[in-house]
Amino acid sequence: MGFTVEQECPQCGAPIDLDETDRLILCPYCHVKNYLFTQDYFRFVLPHKAPNQDIIYAPYMRFKGEVYLCEGATIGHSIVDITYQGTIFKQLPISLGLRPQAMKMKFVTPDVHGSFLKCSLRPLDVLANVGKRTSFFSPGRIFHRAYIGEAFSLIFLPLFVQGGRVFDAVINKPITALPNGEDIFPLASEEDSSWRITFMATICPQCGWDLDGESDSVVLNCGNCDTAWEASEGRLVQVDFSVVPGKGNNVKYLPFWKIAVRDEGLGINTYADFIRITQLPTLMQRDWDNKELSFWIPAFKIRPKVFLRLAREITILQQDFAMGEPIPKKTFYPVTLPKGEAAQSLKVTLASSVMAKKEFFPLLPQVNFTIMKFNLIHLPFRSMGLDMIQEDMGISINKNALKYGRYL
Ligand SMILES: [Zn+2]
Ligand SMILES: [Zn+2]
Repeated sequence: MGFTVEQECPQCGAPIDLDETDRLILCPYCHVKNYLFTQDYFRFVLPHKAPNQDIIYAPYMRFKGEVYLCEGATIGHSIVDITYQGTIFKQLPISLGLRPQAMKMKFVTPDVHGSFLKCSLRPLDVLANVGKRTSFFSPGRIFHRAYIGEAFSLIFLPLFVQGGRVFDAVINKPITALPNGEDIFPLASEEDSSWRITFMATICPQCGWDLDGESDSVVLNCGNCDTAWEASEGRLVQVDFSVVPGKGNNVKYLPFWKIAVRDEGLGINTYADFIRITQLPTLMQRDWDNKELSFWIPAFKIRPKVFLRLAREITILQQDFAMGEPIPKKTFYPVTLPKGEAAQSLKVTLASSVMAKKEFFPLLPQVNFTIMKFNLIHLPFRSMGLDMIQEDMGISINKNALKYGRYL
């Protein structure tokens, strides 16, 4: 479960509670929509209870995401959520414990007063640490490791110094003595303007209509000119998208990134190459030698086991769907996994599709997919009991798995 962030509406100033994964803010008071954007990662502060002290904020870098490991003849996966203390000041608590879950955080904004200690950790260092941790549990040789849907953030713990001791300003209790009267203030840096979050207007760049999406959507739709947009480096960029028409009622359109690829390493360039290399038991057809290879990756977060199964099943079937007319956007399931993250799962999906895993996995480091094209395709799934069913392919997704995927 994620944590809650309190943010003021940039339009009317009303306080709004957000989930940490929320990107689209709909103000319940003035009904204005804003899309949150940051250059690198979001920065949060924990609220302090020491109004009369000079507050020093200590950074903790957090990694949250899914790790997939291809080792031996199996694919292991785990959901990792971990924070690392980011300063050179080793006396500080090594992690934040349950604090972020227990209280409302705030974004670092100009009205957060205090000094900020320099973070000496970089996301790459954290990734290396996560890699070491996950390798520890796997005894075999690792041929490929992928991080999918990962997010980095910085959480600042408020501190103050009194009587030669450093206090945790969340609970107002001393943590450590200042070693040899050493001051941690010289380590403090000023807040950087690149830290600011940006609120983007959710106006269709093509026609000026108000874009639609849910709070955790990373792709927004225009119901007027029937286009889709994703935020990239502070602006909205158009996404190539289509809809496969469904039949009847109770249909929800789930999004998938269809990623056309070529691989020069092992020469996996067509659907026929894919069938040959995976040794799937199917009757090869002549035109498959001319059919481009596309991976179909869920464009929504869902737990690793289901994610991998869906990617594998739809990629193996590789159906040529006829695309349909525009449909009401309220029947769209939101896109919560950006295409760049989906692209990180290509090799794992290939590994998962291969029949003879033990023989094939040592070749994985040679595979190097070049992405030719991304398409966002909404596939119709019909609600039946506890599941959503894709009737053309006979593929099902448990509704609870979808529901809990929104919190990953
Ligand atoms: Zn408002
Ligand atoms: Zn439009």
